[in-house]
Amino acid sequence: MIHEILPVGPLQCNCSIIGDEGTRQAMVIDPGDDIEDILALIQKHGVKVQQIVITHAHIDHVGGAMKLRAATGAPILLNQNDYALLKMLDMQAAWVGMASPGKVEIDQSVGQADKVAAGPLTADVIHTPGHTEGSISLYFPAEKKLIAGDTLFAGSIGRTDLPGGSFDKIIRSIHEKVLALPDETVVVPGHGPLTTIGEERESNPFLQK
Ligand SMILES: [Zn+2]
Repeated sequence: MIHEILPVGPLQCNCSIIGDEGTRQAMVIDPGDDIEDILALIQKHGVKVQQIVITHAHIDHVGGAMKLRAATGAPILLNQNDYALLKMLDMQAAWVGMASPGKVEIDQSVGQADKVAAGPLTADVIHTPGHTEGSISLYFPAEKKLIAGDTLFAGSIGRTDLPGGSFDKIIRSIHEKVLALPDETVVVPGHGPLTTIGEERESNPFLQK
């Protein structure tokens, strides 16, 4: 499995490029910005992007999606519960002091129990509302790897004070769906360092009983 993790943009969103070494098929998750850097890695690995998957519609995760779609022809996937947030990208841009990326068009909604794939590499879509209503996480069972978006961080959880956020929902999503995964699962959060499910179960201050 090819897996490049590249912090992009001023908020350093962790963009993942996941590719299959055999078929050279790939998916890009959360291309928030710095599309030239993402395209350079795609070219370096000689992979073809089949899908652009967005964990949630915050500008630092979705800002570069249209540019990447134009360059690769791959469809953009986002959970429909975040479509309202997409309409607020100009406002989001003003909040974080970024240029607005303009209108982002979604090709397909993905939700609980859907699968996304790059060749034989398959991830289960887990709907994990709380940071936003449409937040999703992607779990690759064969590789025991979770792309968590802004739901779970090393030692922290996503903020819930922005429109569509709910502390109760994020805690429920994490306890019922994320912590149901095996301890050895490697977690790639939307920002910051990698962690594991076991580590967060043990020591994340937001998840202690
Ligand atoms: Zn976010």
